[in-house]
Amino acid sequence: MKHGAEYLKECGVKPSMQRLAIYKYVAEHPTHPTADEIYEALRDQIPTLSKTTVYNTMKLFVSNGVVDEVFIDRTSERFDGNTMLHAHFMCEMCGGIFDSEIDNIPSVAAYVPKGAELHKTQVLYYGVCPECLRAKAE
Ligand SMILES: [Zn+2]
Ligand SMILES: [Zn+2]
Repeated sequence: MKHGAEYLKECGVKPSMQRLAIYKYVAEHPTHPTADEIYEALRDQIPTLSKTTVYNTMKLFVSNGVVDEVFIDRTSERFDGNTMLHAHFMCEMCGGIFDSEIDNIPSVAAYVPKGAELHKTQVLYYGVCPECLRAKAE
């Protein structure tokens, strides 16, 4: 996980106080929050924050590569402060989205159309998380 103002500047984003707080929240919460969740979490801490600011900031962050979008949840747009290669597992019972480590994606990358240039890929798994499996078994 990278930190703060330096990182935002590296990505070409001017680090305002609100942007820093939003980035810090996403980077420190590996829950892949939606813009609404980020707003709810920060509104007490930053009374001047608006939902629109959070939405616009996340759009800016995504286009500058500060954070990644995670497309695993079809009902809402989620964000990830971890931009290193990793896979996502979504639990169909609790809706939780969990990171899992992968070293590389050679077999997936092999299926890019001939002659195309690959910029990004996401590895998505759907199933039931260990906690929900345990709860079900009891
Ligand atoms: Zn679960
Ligand atoms: Zn993730």
